[in-house]
Amino acid sequence: MHRLVSQLKAQGIVQSARVEAALLATDRALFVRDSSQAYTDCPHPIGYGATISAPHMHAYCMEWLVAAVPDARAVLDVGSGSGYLVAALAHLYPQATVQGVEIVPELVEWSARNLLAFDPALRASERVRVCTGNGWESLQGSTFDVIHVGAAASRVPEELVAALRPNGVLLLPVGPDKGDQAMQLWRKDARGELQEPRVLLGVRYVPLVQTRAK
Ligand code: SAH
Repeated sequence: MHRLVSQLKAQGIVQSARVEAALLATDRALFVRDSSQAYTDCPHPIGYGATISAPHMHAYCMEWLVAAVPDARAVLDVGSGSGYLVAALAHLYPQATVQGVEIVPELVEWSARNLLAFDPALRASERVRVCTGNGWESLQGSTFDVIHVGAAASRVPEELVAALRPNGVLLLPVGPDKGDQAMQLWRKDARGELQEPRVLLGVRYVPLVQTRAK
């Protein structure tokens, strides 16, 4: 993990001490199927058509988030997959609860086991949670300072905008499946009005599906 993080620093992707510490604290080997691949800067298949994102993408996302919202209290990770980013975000935001939502129940179960192996005390504290759910659907009144989406949405999901607190940010890839997608950062101002997004980077993510494929 040290070598990988040094490499991301040398490339200028990891810039802040907070992101560096969160990456170093979160051993990727606990969140992949094949731990021999854990420290290469690539996405890896985790089953069910999902991948754990490449470390440089996790690093970019955490840098954008921590710069936009330094002190989040409630964080949501939609498409939480392996659980890696749930764990890393809990380190990045030590005061926050971090909720993962994932549409594949088998991945929810696996990620809960990964989080337990990663840090039993953190898991027991209930500061991190993962549950089965659909990012396109209502979050039943829960609101968040930071929402990260780990799958590409064809358009910005209204339910996620509704769940964003004033001064909060929504970071997500937007674009067609297997087409040109762009990472967008949306912010609500202090009055709760949605600002125009910042477009950050061209990306390739698996799609944020409407319903689970049978
Ligand atoms: N950040 C995760 C990324 C996993 S890949 C990681 O690094 O491990 C994206 C995930 O989004 C997949 O696990 C997929 O099952 C999930 N997903 C796709 N559509 C979804 C939806 N509508 N709601 C919730 N999760 C979804």
